[in-house]
Amino acid sequence: MKILAIGRNYVDHIEELNNERPSEPVVFTKPETALLKNNQPFYYPSISKDIHYEVEVLLKVCKNGKNIEEKFAHKYYDQIGLGIDFTARDLQTKAKEKGLPWALAKGFNHSAPISEFRPKSDYKDLNSLNFSLDIDGKNVQKGNTSLVLFSFGFIIAYISRYIMLKKGDIIFTGTPKGVGPVQIGNRLEGYLEGEKLLDFEIR
Ligand code: MG
Repeated sequence: MKILAIGRNYVDHIEELNNERPSEPVVFTKPETALLKNNQPFYYPSISKDIHYEVEVLLKVCKNGKNIEEKFAHKYYDQIGLGIDFTARDLQTKAKEKGLPWALAKGFNHSAPISEFRPKSDYKDLNSLNFSLDIDGKNVQKGNTSLVLFSFGFIIAYISRYIMLKKGDIIFTGTPKGVGPVQIGNRLEGYLEGEKLLDFEIR
């Protein structure tokens, strides 16, 4: 499987990092070794001094496909989850300054904690899902999928023109504003439509 991710999909987050508003989705990948499941603790790695949390809604791909038309994109994912796109912001900033790739800043070990997935049919309106992240009991990020620049369907159609989607792939769909650093000892709790799906510690 592979992990695909969209950067700069929520306007409020683009503004907080002073990034340019993209005319097309910013796509990056994380390797399978980035996965962290079952609310296992995240061990702060020595490669960075500034690991940031980014809570994101996840799509689980259920069918192989390339050059998918946007109107059929909904057939290619059947489950929704919640994840953290951990980012070594210090490494990413250095890479951005030099115009270099984000592979290490975004793809280091366990940089992609994911929740259990729920059938998408559990949700009334995928274009208006509330999700949020609390750290040590205090809300730090709050988003709604209606606020994206690029819809789930558009993202799937766009990516599949370049990279074939395969059953089991996971797509991170972008983060709203409020990103910031984690510290050893923090407890992260992520909610999707009021249900707590993520609950793990930084050690
Ligand atoms: Mg992200």
